[in-house]
Amino acid sequence: MVDQRVRALPAVVPAQAIAPSGLLQDRRGRPLRDLRISVTDRCNFRCSYCMPKEIFDKDYQYLPHSALLTFEEITRLTQVFVAHGVRKVRLTGGEPLLRKNLEILIEQLAALRTADGAPLDLTLTTNGSLLTRKAASLKAAGLNRVTVSLDGLDDCVFRQMNDVDFPVADVLEGIAAARAAGLGTIKVNMVVKRGTNEHQILPMARHFRGSGIVLRFIEYMDVGATNGWRMDEVVPSAEVLQILQQEMPLVPLEASAPGETAERWGYAGPDGRHDPDLGEVGFISSVTQAFCGDCNRVRLSTEGKVYLCLFAHQGHDLRELLRGGASDADLASAVGAIWQGRDDRYSEIRAQLPPEARTASGRRIEMSYIGG
Ligand code: SAM
Ligand code: SF4
Ligand code: SF4
Repeated sequence: MVDQRVRALPAVVPAQAIAPSGLLQDRRGRPLRDLRISVTDRCNFRCSYCMPKEIFDKDYQYLPHSALLTFEEITRLTQVFVAHGVRKVRLTGGEPLLRKNLEILIEQLAALRTADGAPLDLTLTTNGSLLTRKAASLKAAGLNRVTVSLDGLDDCVFRQMNDVDFPVADVLEGIAAARAAGLGTIKVNMVVKRGTNEHQILPMARHFRGSGIVLRFIEYMDVGATNGWRMDEVVPSAEVLQILQQEMPLVPLEASAPGETAERWGYAGPDGRHDPDLGEVGFISSVTQAFCGDCNRVRLSTEGKVYLCLFAHQGHDLRELLRGGASDADLASAVGAIWQGRDDRYSEIRAQLPPEARTASGRRIEMSYIGG
């Protein structure tokens, strides 16, 4: 495998300063609102669609500690992104809860304010394995919400998918701990892969319906270059919806915010209208339905590279600038220039290809490196 991490573009401070106004737009007029920060490239799971065991084995070269952004560096950069318009910050990885003392970072991020004085919407995506132990301290540090990944309720299927024999019961216990700690509306992400876990769609829906937890179905994506992605293993969201509708009627709901990745559907009551007590599900259809048009997400890798798209193969190296003594104004100008130059719309372009051409080819960054 080619190590994609070493290739990066320098982050350049433009001759003309770009002062943050919160109104920054990319080349397609898209604002910057959502920052996803990967705090580690390591994980205690080996989900085959993300970190297959054959590649991420004992010889795999993870980033050395000195390469990682420190919490102070992450907070400083986040402040710059926030000044440019970011309102939502998601911590991810790898498995973010493996990063030591993560609560300290959360405290620092929770103290940041947007230009109009609002706190950030601060959230985290986790495999749930360490949540039972950590939910209360994460909440106390200032985390608002969590998203937990869980690909099935059948213990055999789940142990196989995480490929480290981790039991479902422990993730469910983690979800319960997050709820008890008051970690907002909990979302559960289920990646659906044909031939592996599509028979878990209905059991998962039955389990979470009416629980206050929002289950979201994610199409298996061609991220990275190691998971051997094939189009015929993707279960389109339309098919998942059809499976659900046979047993539980659903009605479409309005998007909660522009640029929202998930399409929302609510469980209907006997009158055919959405019954809020039964809750809702979400569909993240990055393969069959491009949603690049209003994509306002930016990603910061564990070692400080900015990626403008989940499918990007090159990042912009902010760490070099940061460690080279750049001022906050320089950093803001560099970030401004990077976003203004953004033209990415990978899903839209892929959607225009004939199905037989949609294979996982080309050089791409791994999801465990830039986070989901
Ligand atoms: N380890 C954490 C977790 O699993 O929640 C956070 C990082 S993980 C990369 C973030 C999200 O990406 C998870 O919900 C995971 O299921 C999803 N993901 C990883 N590889 C994927 C793929 N090939 N297709 C679709 N979703 C994927
Ligand atoms: Fe780890 Fe999350 Fe990737 Fe699974 S999806 S291997 S839990 S980073
Ligand atoms: Fe955004 Fe890239 Fe995904 Fe399109 S493919 S929605 S630009 S991250």
